[in-house]
Amino acid sequence: MNLARQIEQYLTQPLLELVQDISKKAAEQGQRVYLVGGIVRDLFLGYPNFDLDLVVEGDAVKLAQQVAEASQAKLLAHRRFGTAKLRYENFTLDLATARKENYARPGALPAVTPGALKDDLIRRDFSINAMAISLATNDYGELVDPYQGKSDLEHRLIRILHPESFSDDATRILRGVRYEQRFGFEFEAQTAQLLRRDIPMLDTISGDRIRHELELILEEKQPELAVRRLGELGVLSRISPSLKGDGWITEKFDKARRLKKSAQLPSLYFCLLVYSFRERGIEQFLARLNIPAKLSRAMHDTLRLKARLPLLDKSSLKPSEIYYLLREYEPLAIQANAIASDEKEGTSSLITQRHLQLFLTKLRYVRTALDGEELKRLGISAGPEMGKVLQILHKAKLDGEVRTRADEKNLALSLSLKL
Ligand code: ATP
Ligand code: MG
Repeated sequence: MNLARQIEQYLTQPLLELVQDISKKAAEQGQRVYLVGGIVRDLFLGYPNFDLDLVVEGDAVKLAQQVAEASQAKLLAHRRFGTAKLRYENFTLDLATARKENYARPGALPAVTPGALKDDLIRRDFSINAMAISLATNDYGELVDPYQGKSDLEHRLIRILHPESFSDDATRILRGVRYEQRFGFEFEAQTAQLLRRDIPMLDTISGDRIRHELELILEEKQPELAVRRLGELGVLSRISPSLKGDGWITEKFDKARRLKKSAQLPSLYFCLLVYSFRERGIEQFLARLNIPAKLSRAMHDTLRLKARLPLLDKSSLKPSEIYYLLREYEPLAIQANAIASDEKEGTSSLITQRHLQLFLTKLRYVRTALDGEELKRLGISAGPEMGKVLQILHKAKLDGEVRTRADEKNLALSLSLKL
């Protein structure tokens, strides 16, 4: 099957030109080069994908260097792994030397030696990700599909390439569910059976690798689908006994997405995932996934704040009091509480909700108009005195007692007389 025409329609003009340039350079060097993995899959599905993955039978780093020379791209080469990344303005291009892998034991990183395209395809996770398109000049556009990936795409199936696939690398369990839910596919029958059999093999995977795959899931459009499925399969509880993917999570993830459209969404999802955890559960989870310090703080704060929410349930609280109650928590943790707690579920009140929102949308951004320099000009000396004046100004501003610059000046002057 030749896909030259489809490539032309699918790739944007700059990508197409790049691919053709690479094809030419590879031919000059007598190397064969292929488009592989997600991009081939997405070309058939008609999904957009701007990550170009290329496999080179030969020396990927050498080819990458040549391509980089003639363009504006930034080159990042890993000679030891035979891989190179070219970073352009709007996309990246990964080139890898075709390789053969050998797993000494489950979960271990494989031993790698150079190989042919076929060796490179069989080490992949699923048939739908194990297709390639030749960019060589003599068969440009030819599909290479040794594991019937195209047929599986048509039948909407996720299939592993050999029975020990999940046990060699149990992160594939998480990856499989991610694709299953993203595309609305199903696991092929034997794959489904082996997946269930090999769930305990997740124990052989390092925290960093599990976390990375979870992050990929949380970057999906609707991660709750995969989270829910992982819950049903018993994958979540294998990772951490307290982890659940129930209807509550589905609802809160959806709410989080409606409220927050930002790069921070995955971190917010992490905070929501632990919302119903007890202290022991969260410690176990943080350790198992080797969660980095900042996110770990946000997750801890989420639970600490949850325990203190009742303090916010008082309509007489002044804005400054709300500010002092909440400023010690990571904003992400406050956001997580605003989403997770619910007056209908009895975990919050309307007043509490209003106070959380007030902090998130306004109070945390309040700054005095005057700064230290200006206070000095008013005759206030640097040091504890100024600190005190600034704090009082800030509090007055939070509570709406001063509004303009002139208000602040007047207040500062009257304070400096008293101090
Ligand atoms: P997407 O980025 O859209 O999720 P992708 O196919 O590009 O899909 P990546 O995670 O970017 O996925 O990985 C690139 C390719 O590397 C995959 O297509 C797959 O063939 C291979 N791959 C990644 N992780 C594994 C793994 N754990 N085992 C085997 N092959 C893998
Ligand atoms: Mg990718």
